[in-house]
Formats: sequence, structure tokens, C-alpha cells
Amino acid sequence: MSTFLGMPAMRAGRGPSPDAAPGTLGGVGRPEDPLHWGATFPDAAKAALENEQLRRNLGNATRTIRTKRARVVGEVPDWEALRDAGSAIKADVLARLPELLETLERNVTARGGVVHWARDAAEANRIVADLVRAKETDEVVKVKSMATQEIGLNEALAEEGIAAVETDLAELIVQLADDMPSHILVPAIHRNRTEIRDIFLERMADAPPDLTDVPRELAMAARAHLRRKFLSAKVAISGANFAVADTGTLAVVESEGNGRMCLTLPETLITVMGIEKLVPTFDDLEVFLQLLPRSSTGERMNPYTSMWTGVTPGDGPQEFHLVLLDNGRTKVLADEAGRSALHCIRCSACLNVCPVYERVGGHAYGSVYPGPIGAILTPQLTGEKSDLPYASTLCGACYEVCPVKIDIPSILVELRAREVALAGSAPDAGDRVWKAAMKAASFAMADGDRFRRAARVPRALRAISRHGVIKRLPFPGSLWTRSRDLPEPPKQTFRDWWAEREDER
Ligand code: SF4
Repeated sequence: MSTFLGMPAMRAGRGPSPDAAPGTLGGVGRPEDPLHWGATFPDAAKAALENEQLRRNLGNATRTIRTKRARVVGEVPDWEALRDAGSAIKADVLARLPELLETLERNVTARGGVVHWARDAAEANRIVADLVRAKETDEVVKVKSMATQEIGLNEALAEEGIAAVETDLAELIVQLADDMPSHILVPAIHRNRTEIRDIFLERMADAPPDLTDVPRELAMAARAHLRRKFLSAKVAISGANFAVADTGTLAVVESEGNGRMCLTLPETLITVMGIEKLVPTFDDLEVFLQLLPRSSTGERMNPYTSMWTGVTPGDGPQEFHLVLLDNGRTKVLADEAGRSALHCIRCSACLNVCPVYERVGGHAYGSVYPGPIGAILTPQLTGEKSDLPYASTLCGACYEVCPVKIDIPSILVELRAREVALAGSAPDAGDRVWKAAMKAASFAMADGDRFRRAARVPRALRAISRHGVIKRLPFPGSLWTRSRDLPEPPKQTFRDWWAEREDER
């Protein structure tokens, strides 16, 4: 049974690196640019929509998390006040970002950590690679981190001969399959357990040969595999959910305990964190540690919350490096209309309620940030022309569930307006056809007789409809049918129906 999204046609120069291992077992391969890969959204979405198994898997998974989230959020009487508080703290952080970052740097340094500043992905990757090389090791363990996915750290380390082992179970599955994550929180949401067993058997050298697809067995096989890695690793790499400016404390929340192993066992810990992940004071964590687990996994509390402040002699990693990553964030910060995308705490609630995400899955977005948050964050981080602002019905469900009240629909509308303005200055073929069609329509509608004759044309399309819909039209009609079906035109126009009715009177 196959559940993978399939590999859509690639944009020239945008697909997986030619050196990357080919996507096997359904993987899409590791792209050169983690923020911009694969086919355009309409093409990738079309391919995904044809995969019924994928839609079933996504529907089941998102429905389950959605229901759990709604139940536990409903238990909190001051949930709306918590959302307001989360949003206000994030707005304050963005308003004082330079000052708070300097405070964080001062406090991390005072407690024995080393802070590094990285303007972009290349700089961050170089800093991490140099730190790992200095420890004379060729393998590091990693706890799931969106920031390191965003900069393609694993691939950059591989080029230096360093293997980065993902220790989050779903991330491990994605990594072994040479695939890309398709959900922020459940990266292997597009895989079923039979596939996972196949991936383990083919790619995990120490997997038991008689492994079945029973979830417990799969988890035990991964656990045994990872334990050996934890015990031998000299260096660990993590992300951070939060960094407290006035104490220099970093926090990681997770549910498998792999994070805690990474954060405590190796001698050296390197944390890569987007500069927006700050909170001003330790008390602010109280708000986010309530908002995050309920919004993401529908749990009252996440099982593991690890916090560390610099280094402690004789306890845990004896060397701690914090890499503060910009990679387009200051550009987003400068944008008054879009900056609240930086409030995001990566809970993934917006993905689980999005009717578009539920049907097409994460790979269609061509970025490590899928779903509604990806549709506003990716185009802003890359600054490139993008289809993603259109990957939404604007139903508003994402705003309703966002724990930090990011008004995603309004930002989508703003980004669409910018795309239209850009297209207006350099119209593409689609725009030219659209304008020509509008001109023809206005000519037909300007005269009653012309309109009557024109209204008969769509009826001819009934000949090619199947089960009430037309799935494919030749150009220029294909500009419509490539992303949506066309309903079968009615047998009779309204004018003819009216005339008939009048005659009968
Ligand atoms: S935009 Fe809001 S709902 Fe979506 S992942 Fe970020 S914090 Fe969660």
C-alpha cells in the first residue's frame, strides 16, 4: 500500500541536488533549497490530490489531532486571555528584538556559553561544521529542529563528512527514507506503518530482520538503534522552542525523551535558533508552556521540557554554543504587514485545521514550512515570487486556532495583493490570457444579442463532461482546469428558461 506523495515535476534548478541519493521508498529526495523546492504549488497539489491513500492518511491524522486539541483547549477557561498574552509577549519581543538579543547574548556568555551570529544559512552551516570538526568527530546526534531543516544543516554536514543522526522518531523515518518532512510536528504523517517497517529494514542496519509493522516493535527498533548513537555521540545539535533573554535559559519541549538525551549526554551541545524565538523573562514561559502542548499535540502538558542555562561543571555538556540565525528574519521584521508571522511558535495547529493542507499534504508547499504558516512565512523569508499565498481558502480556521493570534488570512490577502502588483508590472502568459478573456467577455456583455449567442458556447462543453464535471480543457481553458474542476454547464441558459416560462404564461 503506497501513501507517499510522489515526486512531482521539478522546476529547473530547484529540485533535489543531482548528487543527492534518489528518492527511494517514495521519498522526494533532499532538495538544494529547503525553502523552495519541487513543482509549483498548483502542480504539486494536483499530483497529491490524485493520491487517495495520502488523503485518507492525512484526513485521519489531522482529524484526530484536531479533535484532541479542541477538547483540551475547551478545558481552559482563560484560553482567550492566554492567546492575548502570547500575542502581546511576541509583539513586545519583535518591538525590542535587538535589545533582547543582546541581553540574551550577555547572559548566555556570563554562564559559560558561546554565542555565534549567522546572517544566512551558509554562515550558520559553516559555524556548526567548524565546531563539530574541532571536536574531531564524524557523527552528531540531533533533536528535531525546524531551524536546522530550514538551513539544510544535515546536507551541509554530510558534505564535510559528518553524519547527523535525527533522533526524533518521525524525523528518523524521514531521514532514512531520504525524504522531506510533510508536517511541522508529525514529519512522517504521509507514511503508514508498513512503509516504516520497509524503511527500517532497508536502511537501518541494526533493525531486527523479523521486524513487523506493529507500532510498539517499530518504536523499540528505533529506540535500540538510537540508544547506541546517544551513548557514543560527542556532539549534539538542537533547536530551541524558547530562549529567555534575562536569564540566558534555553528551552526544548518534546514528547519522546530523545531531546533530553541529546541535551544531557554529549560533551558538546550546539543549539541553532531563529532570532525570533526569544521571550523576555522566565515568567513568560508560563504562558507558552500552556499554549504550546495543547495547540500542537492536544496534550495538557508535553512529556519532556528541558531547560539549560550555559554550562554546569561536571553536569551535562561542558561546552555550549548558541547559533542565532537571521536567514531573512530581519527582512520579515521590517515588514509591518507580515511581521507577525514571526510570532509563530511552530505548534502546527493551523496545519491540522486547514482544508487545503488536509487534502494535499506538506510536500506540495515545497518548503520545510508547510500549511498556512508556510504560505505566509516561506514567501517572506525567501522574498521570491510565490504561489503559496493562494494555497488557502481564506476560511479563517487557521486564525481561530493560532495560539498567538497570527492573522494568517489577512497576511495572505496582503501577499496576494503584492503578487498581483508584481504580475501587473510584468504580466505572464496567464495574465495576458486572463486580460484577453475579460476583454472578450466585456465585448459580449455589452450587447444583448451578442451575450445571447455567447451564452450558448459553454453548452457545447457538455459533450466532454464526465459525471457532471469537466476535468481537462485545452489551453487557455487549461489555466482553470489545472487547479480546479469545471462544473458541467446547464442544458439551458437562464435567458432561454425565462423565455420559455414567459411563453407558457
Ligand atoms: S501560525 Fe500559529 S497555529 Fe500555525 S504553527 Fe504558528 S503558532 Fe501554530
